[in-house]
Amino acid sequence: MREIVLVKYGEIILKGLNRSKFEHMLLCNIKRALSFIDGVYVWAKQAVIYVEVPEQDKLNMVIERLSKIFGIVSVTRAGVIEKDLETIKKGAYEYCRSALGAGVKFKVEAKRSDKSFPYNSIEIGKHIGGYLHDECGGAVVDVHNPDITVRVEVREKDAYVYCQEMRTKGQGGMPIGSGGKATLLLSGGIDSPVAGHMIAKRGVEINAVNFFSFPYTSERAKEKVIELASIISQYTSKINLYIVPFTEIQLQIRDKCPEDQMTLIMRRFMMRIAERIAVQSGAKALITGESVGQVASQTLAALGVTNDVISMPVLRPLVGMDKSEIIERAERIGTFETSILPYEDCCTVFTPKHPQTNPKLAMIEKSETHLDVDFLIERAMDGVEMIEVLPE
Ligand code: ATP
Ligand code: MG
Repeated sequence: MREIVLVKYGEIILKGLNRSKFEHMLLCNIKRALSFIDGVYVWAKQAVIYVEVPEQDKLNMVIERLSKIFGIVSVTRAGVIEKDLETIKKGAYEYCRSALGAGVKFKVEAKRSDKSFPYNSIEIGKHIGGYLHDECGGAVVDVHNPDITVRVEVREKDAYVYCQEMRTKGQGGMPIGSGGKATLLLSGGIDSPVAGHMIAKRGVEINAVNFFSFPYTSERAKEKVIELASIISQYTSKINLYIVPFTEIQLQIRDKCPEDQMTLIMRRFMMRIAERIAVQSGAKALITGESVGQVASQTLAALGVTNDVISMPVLRPLVGMDKSEIIERAERIGTFETSILPYEDCCTVFTPKHPQTNPKLAMIEKSETHLDVDFLIERAMDGVEMIEVLPE
């Protein structure tokens, strides 16, 4: 039987007058994510998006892609049947019989959006329920507590049949682009990719900045960051990744500032440069993977000192999460295995033995007077390399 993919979406439905704008964005994002397959046809009707794929052997791949697009709540494959009651009955049986073994409790839910179809929803449900009961030896109708819900939708062109339980869960969230743009400080660690995914899920387009300390960090470390950006881009589509040369700044800090302030001063430089890149690229906020108390530079006092150099909002979606919760998410979104590859990050190379956990802003600012902050930032900005990262 020919199959089609039905896409259901969630929160957009609550958007009132703006709903069609959000639907249009989601439709565009779906088309873009599937543009690598020839002849895919996508359309929306009554809060459902339909995806028709001429090459039926690509359906699994299509479902896999769709399940990563923000704004989608569930993805279901459905059998396409000609709109005639007898044909629908036989089609529903053919399509669902493997799920309707002996003792399975089921119900049929029908929906008719083509009002010229000669049976209403209740009649369609009854006819098909009766037929399935007779044909699938031992399956019993139970409308209150079914194991399986067979859905039949009689739409304009065709009828569609599917089992509710066979749908694939989507990401939820809002369509990318509906929430503006933000710049992710992307290290090679576990946390920042998760932070990027969480904010992107709310519809925010992402670009990313990585601070790179050649030759202290290797080409492999850079490839690892590109790989992480590529995994995130499966959810967001293309990510512009800005690689910032950071060695000179780190060496200057090491040579001219107290050792126990090194990490904090370094982080203040990261924020300043990230904000510059964000402004230039039209982003309205920064995103980091910081979480309160995780390391010395993430105490409340340290976060305050880090924040003080910029005026843009900093989104820290992991702020109240435990490491184990972050790891669980990293595994779910597929970044964990790459994050734990052992290549050095610029922070790990220049870590003081006893970093300050209760820094005083005035002291940090005093230490920074030994550095030509503006000059160092200009030099780093001049050396920025931009890489367009796409899903693999
Ligand atoms: P992560 O697992 O994301 O590396 P972390 O627990 O190692 O985080 P830190 O090293 O203190 O924590 O970094 C805190 C945040 O600062 C990171 O989550 C990331 O957003 C940003 N950051 C750290 N190092 C870099 C880097 N080399 N390039 C870009 N951003 C960075
Ligand atoms: Mg790190």
